[in-house]
Amino acid sequence: MKIGEGLEVLELKRDNRILNSVLIWDENDMALIDTGLPGMFLDIIKEIEAAGTYFERLKKVIITHHDIDHIGSLTDIVNKSKGKIEVIAHTLEAPYINGEEQSLKMTPERLKAMPREERARFKALKTEVDTEVSDGEILPYFGGITIIHTPGHTHGHICLYLHKYKTLVTGDALNVEGGQLIGPKQEYTYDMPLALTSLKKLLDYDIETIICYHGGIFKGDISNRISKLSGVQ
Ligand SMILES: [Zn+2]
Repeated sequence: MKIGEGLEVLELKRDNRILNSVLIWDENDMALIDTGLPGMFLDIIKEIEAAGTYFERLKKVIITHHDIDHIGSLTDIVNKSKGKIEVIAHTLEAPYINGEEQSLKMTPERLKAMPREERARFKALKTEVDTEVSDGEILPYFGGITIIHTPGHTHGHICLYLHKYKTLVTGDALNVEGGQLIGPKQEYTYDMPLALTSLKKLLDYDIETIICYHGGIFKGDISNRISKLSGVQ
């Protein structure tokens, strides 16, 4: 779905789920934010084409956090691209993406209980992060992208504020369910009180559109809603 010129939500579908990756581009450059589940590489290519551009133009991938549904097709994207893909993530998240640390949600017991093929696929998901970012940093492309470190869901979770579009990409810090903006999901969130405190940071931004990885686009009384969810009001 088109948000603005050069900004598109890519809907990646599996079973009854839709994951909302974000594609942002201009005449020189193109970036993808989050990469779906393992095996979604072809879906991503199709969605990029449906947005009116093509995969070979992709130069950057920004990862909001290391959960499997966000990094699932990252290795494929990096390995199958002819050109170099720059992988960008928060410093605290990099060791989980490059395989130095075990995923926060993957205990050794859970890994053991996986079917062998799935376990092998999971273990193969290791990708070097080329550029580590930190809170408040502004990436200089596409009209400026501010990195907002929002720990809680994971240690190095980030939201991204796209200045040119007044749009916030939330990762899993916020969700949309039944048309309403809701907070992080307790069952998937590593530190819930911290995740809620992190939401207060989002109030510093003039946001017209929110894109949640789970639930998609939300417009409306955004700052009031975030204030309520974070406990400010
Ligand atoms: Zn997720």
